[in-house]
Amino acid sequence: MLKVENISFSYTKTPVLKAISFEAKEGENLAIIGESGSGKSTLLNLLYGEFDVNEGSIFWKDTEILGPKYNLVVGYEFMKYVSQEFNLMPFITVAENIGKHLSNFFPEEKKARTAELLEVVELTEFANVKVKTLSGGQKQRVALARALAKEPEIILLDEPFSHIDNFQKQSLRRSVFKYLKNKNITCIVATHDREDVLGFADCMIVLNNNSIAVNDHPEVLYQNPKTPLIASFFGEFNVIKNKIIYAHQVKLTEKSNLKATVIQSYFKGHYFLIEANLEAEKVFFQHHSILEKNQTIYLKITA
Ligand code: ADP
Ligand code: MG
Repeated sequence: MLKVENISFSYTKTPVLKAISFEAKEGENLAIIGESGSGKSTLLNLLYGEFDVNEGSIFWKDTEILGPKYNLVVGYEFMKYVSQEFNLMPFITVAENIGKHLSNFFPEEKKARTAELLEVVELTEFANVKVKTLSGGQKQRVALARALAKEPEIILLDEPFSHIDNFQKQSLRRSVFKYLKNKNITCIVATHDREDVLGFADCMIVLNNNSIAVNDHPEVLYQNPKTPLIASFFGEFNVIKNKIIYAHQVKLTEKSNLKATVIQSYFKGHYFLIEANLEAEKVFFQHHSILEKNQTIYLKITA
């Protein structure tokens, strides 16, 4: 398993990560979330051995992951990293990029493996297209497939679906995460997108102020978000009487001590998000229909 013990790191004088410790078991999907600049990519780079930690240690099973100071060639056979830049070879085809590190001694197997991976990332019909002509999202999928080609024991994914459009995102996520689970590949995914986490991650780490704010199962964090930062990851929320209340937990009622005035209704598909004023504080809640502007309403909080 992956064991990160008390690591700290800084590019300059100001620390980016302080005293980070966590573990990930074999086959586990661990999400690292945090705002832009919170250190997600830095952490993945450290896990990969791209930089030297200032303090602490990182182990995959019995192997210590060492930075460039102690390890001439960055990277290990058992670990693959799909960074935010894809580092593909632009002048060769999608299939050639994916098969780049597969042995030519077994051409049939190489062909079959490449075909399997093209299917996982939903790029079969692009097999013979040169990478330079692809869109950002398509390139991201090639990078994913290439990282999976030699079946790593652990894969590090940095915002793996960020360039992929909404039409394809959902099905691609399911395909990739299902593949990783089936092959029992440990997956560390850095993201700020809840859709990359919910339904997939076994555990979720929230980075804030250079350290780990929480590390728990997504369900546990969702049910009891300790801070607005955590709640904001899961959806629209309010702080009412010092308690974090999701928008869907606030409902219209006949009469209550929560008297509010409607400001605006936003169409959200199967519901409207209503913005209202509650004693000079903004409140957001879900309702099945539009509410008239300036209308006086009463709200209740459901568990
Ligand atoms: P995230 O991936 O969560 O957006 P990063 O790990 O990229 O965050 O960045 C964390 C912090 O480190 C930011 O303040 C960023 O400006 C800084 N940083 C990132 N890369 C470098 C670098 N190569 N040199 C100096 N500072 C950097
Ligand atoms: Mg990043």
